[in-house]
Amino acid sequence: MIPVVKGKTEIPADRGRRVGGYTMEVLFTRQVIQERVRDLGARISRDYQGCEPIIVGILKGAVFFFADLVRNITIPVKIDFIRARSYGSSMESCGKVDITKDIEIPVQSRAVILVEDIVDSGLTVEALVEHVMKKGASSCSICALIDKKERRLCDVTIQYTGFSVETGFLVGYGLDYNERYRYLRDICILNSGE
Ligand code: 5GP
Ligand code: MG
Repeated sequence: MIPVVKGKTEIPADRGRRVGGYTMEVLFTRQVIQERVRDLGARISRDYQGCEPIIVGILKGAVFFFADLVRNITIPVKIDFIRARSYGSSMESCGKVDITKDIEIPVQSRAVILVEDIVDSGLTVEALVEHVMKKGASSCSICALIDKKERRLCDVTIQYTGFSVETGFLVGYGLDYNERYRYLRDICILNSGE
């Protein structure tokens, strides 16, 4: 099936290509995303006044969200990245989380904010919060672009949420399907069939 894109986005590399029987629809536009990111930046700036938090982006999916968020925070921060691999299919993780690139700046006695693209089962962020606290951070909160609730397997508290969705597989604004579509400016949902 040829991918059909409803709404205004651009998929130049995939025009006319097959995407495994899925169609794509815009769910959150770039304008709506930027409004939410501004709100999150303002809230973090208020909550962390005077403590220079370390903002840690979870690679690779959070990369654009992270870059926009950090530039909407109006207090001094430090930034770093972590990379985790969770095993499973291209659309679902299964629980085992490996850290393949660790935070490089010291987090001991510091407030850390983990920036994640999507919290799905919650297993990835749960493991990363534990990892950061083991390194001696004074606190570790989670800022997630998307809180996807349907498959939650553990009880994680997300302090800062961009959007909540129940279900669906999302791509764009950093989110991939087999490494494709990260470059889309809008967040799109892949639908099977029409
Ligand atoms: P969790 O450990 O919470 O189940 O998995 C979270 C990770 O799974 C996210 O960081 C993301 O990489 C991936 N993921 C979960 N849902 C989606 C989705 O709808 N779209 C994309 N592109 N990745 C997802
Ligand atoms: Mg991810």
